[in-house]
Amino acid sequence: MSDCIFCKIIKGEIPARKIYEDEEMFAFHDITPMAPVHFLVIPKKHISNLMELEAEDIALVGRLLNKAQQIAKEPKPTGLGCGENGARFVINAKRDGGQTVDHLHIHVLGGRALSWPPG
Ligand code: 5GP
Ligand code: ZN
Repeated sequence: MSDCIFCKIIKGEIPARKIYEDEEMFAFHDITPMAPVHFLVIPKKHISNLMELEAEDIALVGRLLNKAQQIAKEPKPTGLGCGENGARFVINAKRDGGQTVDHLHIHVLGGRALSWPPG
């Protein structure tokens, strides 16, 4: 999608601190980290949000989540070293979910204890 920030990051039109990329996904550090570890995993296919997910993309979301946990737990410097203490995996969807970028993304937050429930 031409006016989508995350599609532009995938295409290299907006710089980002890339962690991982393959033919179907892209992972990069969040520009405004809310924890010592805060990265995003996104599909290269523009999917607006989790609630617009089509049947053909269900397995893709599984692979995104799997890559998110692999990156989170792999020891530094290749991974982010959250294997022992854990991390939080979040998908915000639409207005009430707090979604601000309309391109499906998994947040991974770690490196400190996080409170629950969210405000
Ligand atoms: P949302 O609120 O939609 O779940 O999360 C969007 C996230 O994208 C936010 O945490 C925000 O900091 C991050 N973000 C927005 N614009 C950019 C950008 O240009 N680069 C990077 N790396 N992260 C961004
Ligand atoms: Zn997009």
